[in-house]
Amino acid sequence: MQMNKTAEVELSIDKDWCKGCGICVAFCPKQVLELNHKDKSEVVRIEDCIACMLCELRCPDLAIQVTKTQTQVETVK
Ligand code: SF4
Ligand code: SF4
Repeated sequence: MQMNKTAEVELSIDKDWCKGCGICVAFCPKQVLELNHKDKSEVVRIEDCIACMLCELRCPDLAIQVTKTQTQVETVK
């Protein structure tokens, strides 16, 4: 799992479920994902992820999970 402190998002890819179709790579508007040498989707630019959820929604094998975190929430006094 990789975490992006800026967009407060975590990406989790199940390598057993991923079949390397590349749909998530093609749909990601920020080029966050790439297929690695084993033809598995891999997070390469987590810092650019905008948590648009497209990869999770488009993956036919439900291998990607996008989780918005709340670790950076600021409280206004
Ligand atoms: S869309 Fe799903 S199955 Fe296809 S490469 Fe991405 S994670 Fe793997
Ligand atoms: S949530 Fe959006 S920006 Fe982030 S990896 Fe998925 S498709 Fe790319």
